[in-house]
Amino acid sequence: ENVVVGIDGPAGSGKSSVARAAARELGFQFLDTGAAYRSLGWLVYDRGADPGIREHVLKTLEQFDYEISLESGSQRVLVNGLDVTAQIRAEHISGAASRVAVVPEVRTRVNEIFRGLIQSAEPGIVVEGRDITTVVAPDADVRILLTARPEIRAERRASDVGEDADAIAKRIRDRDDRDMGNSDFMEPADGVHLVDSSDLSFNQTVQAVVNLVHG
Ligand code: C5P
Repeated sequence: ENVVVGIDGPAGSGKSSVARAAARELGFQFLDTGAAYRSLGWLVYDRGADPGIREHVLKTLEQFDYEISLESGSQRVLVNGLDVTAQIRAEHISGAASRVAVVPEVRTRVNEIFRGLIQSAEPGIVVEGRDITTVVAPDADVRILLTARPEIRAERRASDVGEDADAIAKRIRDRDDRDMGNSDFMEPADGVHLVDSSDLSFNQTVQAVVNLVHG
């Protein structure tokens, strides 16, 4: 039986880089689930379609062939055979991703892909996203909710992309609203460990995750 570690968190919580570093330290594989939503959002735009229109998204979903490598070192993403690893990180793709993500058929389809990948990952895998601890892998061996105060998330994001923190704070709030429907997302589900990285360094946060896995 492989070891499955699920990590959820809001935009800008640093979960992607933390989860990747923890996977590397644990010698596990790594799956960034947001990359699938980003890839579909990218394909919608590539088709000249609108990610806010359900029919456009469903039509694009029919033509969506998705592949992702699970090495924690470099995660290459292929859509219909085309390498979109860099393209899906563009800021406008974040918005497209959170729009296609509200379509239930999209979630069903990508969750099937995720579960197939998780099943065969040896000796273990760190899976990062929004609904890993609750929907994708509720029976994961270790489940973690990684949070940070909203202003801290905006600051980290701003220094990443070299942009004004206020503008970024607004986009994060908009995306949080779409992602969480104003729910109490920051509340961990039963049995989920809460790690608040607001006052931790990057390395301290990675260690907190690794320590939870080592129990
Ligand atoms: O984590 P990342 O910023 O790459 O995710 C992009 C978007 O994909 C999120 O804002 C969210 O709307 C969606 N997403 C999701 N469920 C996941 C991962 C990402 O709905 N498990």
